[in-house]
Amino acid sequence: MATAMPAVGILRGSGLPFSKQSSRKPVPELSAYLSPNAGPRRNGALPDLVVIHYTAMPGCAEAEARLCDPAAEVSAHYLVSETGHVIGLVPEEMRAWHAGAGAWGNCTDVNSRSIGIELANGGDAPFPEPQMAALEGLLTDILHRWQIPPERVIGHSDMAPARKSDPGPRFDWKRLALNGLSVWPEPAEPGDFAADARAFGYPDLAEAALLAAFRLRFRPWASGGLSDEDRALIADLATRFPVDAVQAQA
Ligand SMILES: [Zn+2]
Repeated sequence: MATAMPAVGILRGSGLPFSKQSSRKPVPELSAYLSPNAGPRRNGALPDLVVIHYTAMPGCAEAEARLCDPAAEVSAHYLVSETGHVIGLVPEEMRAWHAGAGAWGNCTDVNSRSIGIELANGGDAPFPEPQMAALEGLLTDILHRWQIPPERVIGHSDMAPARKSDPGPRFDWKRLALNGLSVWPEPAEPGDFAADARAFGYPDLAEAALLAAFRLRFRPWASGGLSDEDRALIADLATRFPVDAVQAQA
């Protein structure tokens, strides 16, 4: 790994020291912030979403180089290696360039409202245990410090269906949910799939695109057309985790 600088002092200005948080897992040691591909969060936005990605590159070092290359114009706040090393690339206070076009609920500038986490993974392999454990430690810390609820930990494929497929069908969303770091549906009374998908947060797209994104995350083993199982599960998510409930009531 190319970076090993200690994180001492990096977060001093944020008032949010990693070391004082009570997380269930060890807080990862951060490397120095490295990527120039970032800017201020727009309109004073604060992070209230976490977007999970995979790098789709052969190795972590290659991904780190690309995420720090000014010519690439992409970045993320963190890169987690296959061995569980957490590399800080952009300070959380800054707007990293990871999400691109897309939306979650009424949020269309996802970069300004989110923290982006890249997992070193070529896209065709399982995520190793040390990497998942490190991700859980990082997520626990982030959600606690920014007071982000678990339903606002989403995949790149959730906010950009049809355009993005990461973190992909091998990513263990249920494991995160069991640790309070994401959500997992229970069957409810089936309803209108597309309406419920949008109520949960998915962008306003055709049913086929919504179904593909939903299944990629919640039913990667499923095939065939829209079923009552799909409708039952998305109904539960829409009911328990309506994306813009606070704004809608205001
Ligand atoms: Zn991505």
